[in-house]
Amino acid sequence: MTKQRQVVFDVLEAIGHEHPTASEVFVQAKERMPTISLATVYNCLESLTGAGAIRQVNIEREATRYCPNLRPHAHFYCIDCDKVFDIGLESGADASAVWALPPGCRIEEMNVSMRGVCGTCPRCGSGD
Ligand SMILES: [Zn+2]
Ligand SMILES: [Zn+2]
Repeated sequence: MTKQRQVVFDVLEAIGHEHPTASEVFVQAKERMPTISLATVYNCLESLTGAGAIRQVNIEREATRYCPNLRPHAHFYCIDCDKVFDIGLESGADASAVWALPPGCRIEEMNVSMRGVCGTCPRCGSGD
């Protein structure tokens, strides 16, 4: 792993639970390595994704975000506070068992994302 890639990976380990965008990773990476460029950060994110070390999170109309959590999980996007949360499976649940897959299909990768409002952003249901 190159030094730059290590820095980008370290940043994701540190703030990955916030699912940062490439520019957010860049801001943090620059603090650790002032010479790093945004293009380099993009390249590192690409190759880390290609190597399976991190995952891309694509939410409709939003910039691509990155996630270092490789356990099976879904992403919940809060339309109010713009945060992305990891949603784990109920213990013992098998994510591939909940979908009515046609016979013979095998899941190699699963990207489940949900949109909604998180628990800290209560929507006022009583007419404001
Ligand atoms: Zn929220
Ligand atoms: Zn995630």
